[in-house]
Amino acid sequence: MEPGEGPAHACILRVALALPFSHLYDYLPPTDCPEDRLVPGHRVCVPFKAGARIGFLIEVSDESPIAPAKLRRAIEVLDQAPVIHTPQLGLLIWASDYYHHPLGEVVAQALPSSLRRVRAIAPRARDAPGPSTPHAPPPAAPVLTANQADAVQAITARLDRFEVFLLEGVTGSGKTEVYLRIVEAVIGAGKQALCLVPEIGLTPQTIARFQERFAVPIAATHSGLSEAQRRAAWWTTRKGLAPIVIGTRSAVWSELCRPGVIVVDEEHDLSYKQQQGFRYSARDIAIIRAKRHRIPVVLGSATPSLESLHNAAIGRYRHLCLPARVGCATDPTTEVIDLRRGTARGPLSAALIARITETLAERRQVIVFANRRGYAPLLLCPECAWAAGCDRCDARLVYHHETRRLRCHHCGADRPVPTGCPKCGSAFLCKVGHGTERVVESLREHFPAARVLRIDRDAVRGQAAWERVLARIAEGDADILVGTQMLAKGHHFPKVTLVAIVDGDQGLYGTDFRAGERMAQQLVQVAGRTGRAEDPGHVVIQTHNPHHPLLAVLLREGYSAFAAMALRERREAGLPPFSALALVRAEGRDTRAPEAFLQEARSLGLREGHQGAALLGPVPAPMERRADRYRWHLLVQARERTRLQAFLRAWLPQLAALKSSRRVRWSVDVDPQELL
Ligand code: ADP
Ligand code: ZN
Ligand code: ZN
Repeated sequence: MEPGEGPAHACILRVALALPFSHLYDYLPPTDCPEDRLVPGHRVCVPFKAGARIGFLIEVSDESPIAPAKLRRAIEVLDQAPVIHTPQLGLLIWASDYYHHPLGEVVAQALPSSLRRVRAIAPRARDAPGPSTPHAPPPAAPVLTANQADAVQAITARLDRFEVFLLEGVTGSGKTEVYLRIVEAVIGAGKQALCLVPEIGLTPQTIARFQERFAVPIAATHSGLSEAQRRAAWWTTRKGLAPIVIGTRSAVWSELCRPGVIVVDEEHDLSYKQQQGFRYSARDIAIIRAKRHRIPVVLGSATPSLESLHNAAIGRYRHLCLPARVGCATDPTTEVIDLRRGTARGPLSAALIARITETLAERRQVIVFANRRGYAPLLLCPECAWAAGCDRCDARLVYHHETRRLRCHHCGADRPVPTGCPKCGSAFLCKVGHGTERVVESLREHFPAARVLRIDRDAVRGQAAWERVLARIAEGDADILVGTQMLAKGHHFPKVTLVAIVDGDQGLYGTDFRAGERMAQQLVQVAGRTGRAEDPGHVVIQTHNPHHPLLAVLLREGYSAFAAMALRERREAGLPPFSALALVRAEGRDTRAPEAFLQEARSLGLREGHQGAALLGPVPAPMERRADRYRWHLLVQARERTRLQAFLRAWLPQLAALKSSRRVRWSVDVDPQELL
């Protein structure tokens, strides 16, 4: 190419923009741009409508569906080198294709938000990782148990290839120690380890354990970071300066120069699935990523998802087990309290009160779980059965005693408590059910001398507050902890020997086909909070359904037996993992528009010949009205993923073209985790 002549052959930049459209945007190269800068993965500044936008160069092509005369010229190729490496770009393209989400948005969410704005990047001094904090000599690593040694051996023997390991072990069985050894081997070989942890509270504890063990820079990313910290972490990882990368869901997109292993802790955790916008599963992306990098991936959990257990059963994953707790910690004992027999007037049965009394007398800590925040989930008129409901949702308002307000936990509506029944005028309204506030009140009545600490999203806001609370608990500055599931995940509370579940019935009759699985996981995780040190733990479950088959199998035979039973049921019903699902959700302010759109979508799908995919619905969502929007669902089910994907590829573009689609907001969720 002669300078000033323009390209000898047509050179077209195909650019992804962070817009809700699935096609790429075509541009001519900027004037005077050297050809070697036109490499996929670069950020490009392009004219868009009257302004300019940042896009990502996906490919350089010699043709475009748009007439050459109509093509506009890109303004500038930013940055000296592509911000996205080629393997990473390949992964992002795969994910966009699999989840049927626009590539521009998929790429944009994988980068710190400051990189989506117009400005060339260069590392600033403070972007580089600081000298690591002065290091105490690393504590001596413990001698591995035989089971731990087997697991470490199995994984480290195969660091040079792709394989999925499912590491199943109860809380306290030493899974984290296994991760540490694998990471040690990986960084020893000059490679990087990526570790994913669930969203809630776990991050600081896990990071601390890695920092204690390794004197190398660790890039940590989680939701508590500022944009500058996020950017610094991104840069550090991108340059390969941090051998260890730890983070929550979005860390799965970290650029790695020398990938060596990916660890997904608590792989069953719902927080790995993004529930809005780009609805990906970080666990599944981790597996795909490991496969593309040809490295092992370790999925750890005390309560693996049924999908992973199934994959292990058919030999697709390698199953490694840590059957016992480390050291003298013994498994907790369980006791079911039949609420039908008792005469409990508040949330606490006489039997539970007796257990708490014993535990406090031994100077041990107690955890009491309630399912809901607030005081009572229902405010009811005993005369006419009026119940306080949300004006904007098909939901009840929760009575909060501390603020004396009624609140909707779905849309945030907040209003004063009526002095009497608005329907019949009765002066007395009944508060039904037990939220955390009421459980605290009841505990204070029965145990006036005990220090009771409430731990839920109302009482503990933000990471700093959370860490203060954890410190208080560790120092023994609390006798009874009352919490929602926020308290159930992965924390080490060595002084807790009694865990009580106030309402063990929730989840037994959920509408979602995964409700049973979730409840079993929660029960086991909750039980894992107790008896971690020398003292054996005890778990008390209050229920109206002591003979429910799910609860019975879980308590009598444990999680594995429960999972086997649940998998048999899934097989009979043709539900995942024995089929693949995609959920199309539509919502709108108009009562009929969502249903009308999904009906049309269904007709189109039937015409498509559905290629082995079944269309179920449309049906109203379990909560049809939320925040003044009407919500409907259409479920697509196929025996195999490939069939589901083939169908979606042919069908979804047609939905976007439907006129009725403009009257609703709609989305597709591949492998939905919650049918809400
Ligand atoms: P998990 O991740 O399965 O909950 P951890 O790895 O956190 O289990 O181990 C539980 C506790 O036991 C931790 O305090 C850890 O330091 C300790 N531990 C783990 N492995 C060993 C071992 N082989 N010998 C002694 N202590 C161990
Ligand atoms: Zn009334
Ligand atoms: Zn509401």
